[in-house]
Amino acid sequence: MSELSFAELGLDPAVLEAVAAVGYEKPSPIQAQTIPALLAGKHLLGVAQTGTGKTAAFALPLLSRIDASLMEPQILVLAPTRELAIQVAEAFTTYASKFRNFHVLPIYGGQDFFPQIKGLRRGAQVIVGTPGRMLDHLRKGTLKLDSLKALVLDEADEMLRMGFIDDVEAILAKTPDNCQRALFSATMPPQIKKVAQTYLRDATEVKIESETRTVERISQFVLPVYAERKLDALTRILEVEPLDAAIVFVRTKAETTLLAEKLSARGHAVAPLNGDLNQRQREQTVDDLRRGKKDIIVATDVAARGLDVPRITHVINYDVPYDTEAYIHRVGRTGRAGREGKAILLVTPRERSWLRTLERATNSPMESYQLPSPVELKKMREEQFETQLLGFAEDGKLAKAMALLDEIAERNEMDTAMVAGALACWLEASQPGSLPLDQPEALPEISATAPPRRDRDRKGGGGGRPGGKPGYKPGFKKGPKGRGGPAPKGKPPGKGGKPAGKRPSRQD
Ligand code: ADP
Ligand code: MG
Repeated sequence: MSELSFAELGLDPAVLEAVAAVGYEKPSPIQAQTIPALLAGKHLLGVAQTGTGKTAAFALPLLSRIDASLMEPQILVLAPTRELAIQVAEAFTTYASKFRNFHVLPIYGGQDFFPQIKGLRRGAQVIVGTPGRMLDHLRKGTLKLDSLKALVLDEADEMLRMGFIDDVEAILAKTPDNCQRALFSATMPPQIKKVAQTYLRDATEVKIESETRTVERISQFVLPVYAERKLDALTRILEVEPLDAAIVFVRTKAETTLLAEKLSARGHAVAPLNGDLNQRQREQTVDDLRRGKKDIIVATDVAARGLDVPRITHVINYDVPYDTEAYIHRVGRTGRAGREGKAILLVTPRERSWLRTLERATNSPMESYQLPSPVELKKMREEQFETQLLGFAEDGKLAKAMALLDEIAERNEMDTAMVAGALACWLEASQPGSLPLDQPEALPEISATAPPRRDRDRKGGGGGRPGGKPGYKPGFKKGPKGRGGPAPKGKPPGKGGKPAGKRPSRQD
């Protein structure tokens, strides 16, 4: 992470305010380098991996340079796909949220021309679109570039791969000569280099390098998962991993709080750690983790800098890091004081290329993480329930409890199994999810290969029940037996009076 703050980069105050509202703490490395150059009106060539924050790297400075009162296309962004165009358009909306009058218009193929033409007529300062459709509008004269200040080619190598290079060049040729240009790409194939040499002469070049460093004693895993399934995946990981303490990394301060709340609702002892907390609160949080009052911390990169708590057994990268350096710093929060550590990285399909980059950077392989199948999960939960139950078999009050239940059984002509069953149901009623009663089919499937069904999704909600077919790859190795002690985490049962309270409830 860079040392400069957003405020120090010279962005427009309205843009700064919007950035603060989304909760970005610090510029990512590529942002720290591109923002000053783009603010200065330079052409820019940016090479960096997916997820490094490239959208804000161009959107923030370019938005700072537009004439917000002029309702004409001033920024044009070319993106390879409809989804990416929409995503970039949404990002612009967010970053321009404090402008009084702002319009961004996504235009892409496959959609009717008419609404696009209407949108263009109504006016927009920013147009984001796929090259083919953009060119169509330019040729029809429905898109005019007289007031254009900047053109951005986002994911240039992807546009090349998709066969858009000629369209891209045709659009470049139609933009005014004095128009500022920026090209972003994860890689620099020769054709892209050629485009850059022709249209972005004297561009400032920004490259976010992958550093190589060895991460010893830390086993690294990667779990591909759709963004909408991340919370489910995390819940599952926390349930099955034999963790002592964990740190979960997310990108924003807001997300630390949100995610901590969701995990807390699932029965975890968790706290957020972010730059909004003052020094004392941060120290308190870290101390709670060190002393076992909390088991999980949800943190941003900045807040977790230098954190040294030996009992952290797991680092979970809920969001991918900005660069390899941040990753190495994150995973270095575990495997401390000569202990072993485990790092698990969640990647969405778009972010999969991180895998190779991180393997190279850390000089060690990343294994693919296997979530337990619903069947395995059910079995595990049953075993865990049994373990917890047995933990009470030596409880000091057992004899008295047995005598009491014997009397009840006798008086009501019940056998003891029935009394035990009734007690278990009572437990379930007072703490839903205590009993492993779910059928495997009812347990959510977290598949990396099939996108979640949107209609069933509660977006960003408390973990909907996706349903779905069972039958994904087994490969879960650990049983709960390895955890040691009667209750999970080896804590004496009964002390807190809640036999199953520690276990996440079944909302995942
Ligand atoms: P890229 O285009 O490099 O793949 P994006 O621009 O899509 O990356 O950004 C990836 C994610 O990172 C987005 O969710 C974005 O909101 C977030 N992000 C970008 N910059 C920052 C920052 N400075 N701090 C926190 N999160 C950020
Ligand atoms: Mg991008």
